[in-house]
Amino acid sequence: MSATLPAPLVERLRRHRAAGLERSRWVVDGAQGVRLRLGDRTYLSFASNDYLGLAADGRLAAALAEAARRVGVGAGASHLIAGHHREHQALEEALAAFTGRERALLYSSGFQANLGVIAALAGAGDLVVEDRLNHASLLDGALLARARLRRYPHRDAAAAGRLLAGRGGAKLLVTDGVFSMDGDLAPLPELARVARQQGAVLVVDDAHGLGVLGRTGRGVVEHFALDAASVPVLVGTLGKAFGTAGAFVAGSAELVDYLIQFSRPYVYTTAHPPALAAASRAALAIAAAEGWRRERLSALVARFRQGAAQQGVPLADSTTPIQPVLLGGEARCLAVAERLRAAGILVGAIRPPTVPRGTARLRIALSAAHREEDVDRLLEALGAALDAVPGEEET
Ligand SMILES: *Cc1c(COP(=O)(O)O)cnc(C)c1O
Repeated sequence: MSATLPAPLVERLRRHRAAGLERSRWVVDGAQGVRLRLGDRTYLSFASNDYLGLAADGRLAAALAEAARRVGVGAGASHLIAGHHREHQALEEALAAFTGRERALLYSSGFQANLGVIAALAGAGDLVVEDRLNHASLLDGALLARARLRRYPHRDAAAAGRLLAGRGGAKLLVTDGVFSMDGDLAPLPELARVARQQGAVLVVDDAHGLGVLGRTGRGVVEHFALDAASVPVLVGTLGKAFGTAGAFVAGSAELVDYLIQFSRPYVYTTAHPPALAAASRAALAIAAAEGWRRERLSALVARFRQGAAQQGVPLADSTTPIQPVLLGGEARCLAVAERLRAAGILVGAIRPPTVPRGTARLRIALSAAHREEDVDRLLEALGAALDAVPGEEET
């Protein structure tokens, strides 16, 4: 095997493994959900981003199947050739209405949307200022643009302002709405003010806020009661709360017209299956109509935080369904996750380079599909696992 890869790469892999950073995949049998079957065992899962419990909802599957029977599976071509279907168009219109924007543009994934937006709005030598903890795709977007990437300390709007000050050329200020591994919110009102003062375009990736935050699920923008002008470029994904796949950029008609012409990750790729767009439209309608899912979710978050605090579990400053438990070292993080798994519970064990060194954590994600008993079972198992695996300072 090793002869197929140059020696330095083999060595890199060896060191990665030795450092306890190797990633492996679970194989899921059956439906996605809070009860997840891996092989012959069913686990209670807190490892997905299926916040509203829609990924395996029968109504989405029915919409997908109905549309697939009607229009087939493959889009056949890119959007700009012959692949832009009426179903895509209808979903874009629904997303524009949902986000209160003039237009929306579909991408095949959030990763692609972020690359596509940043590399279209910034060019070589332009300034892109980002939060240190932004999603990898936002950082890579700046690299793809060959822009000057500057990163500010997490959630520090004043530092962002200093990085933006006094430069000419195009300037982007880019942030996650909800930070994916921390669950905390970007200080959007402050960032919007800084962007306005410095003549920068604010780009917000609300992958974890849309469908979840705000009274009607319009995300972090609704949470902070900001207007569309304050967040001119809004990226959303469909594979998390909405339970399907794909992503979109919402904004002005002018922005979308521009991206259609110049966003290479949009132009040079086959359109998603149109039936998937039909399923996403069904998900959007369900998420809007069933506000009880958001209410259930916040009640579960409160229950988890209260129980964890009582047990002395180290909690992060997050009120979203993303509840990290910071453990520090990689080995301890893996050992605690392994104990939970032995107790029939799945959580993400998040290690560098996904998070900064020394901040390995369990990433617990709650879903409207969880029951109160599920949260209680997690708390009990978590308490036992933390007791059984002492912290580094104690070993
Ligand atoms: C998941 C995620 C993405 C990527 O979206 P995909 O549709 O999964 O490619 C982008 N940004 C953030 C903040 C994310 O958490």
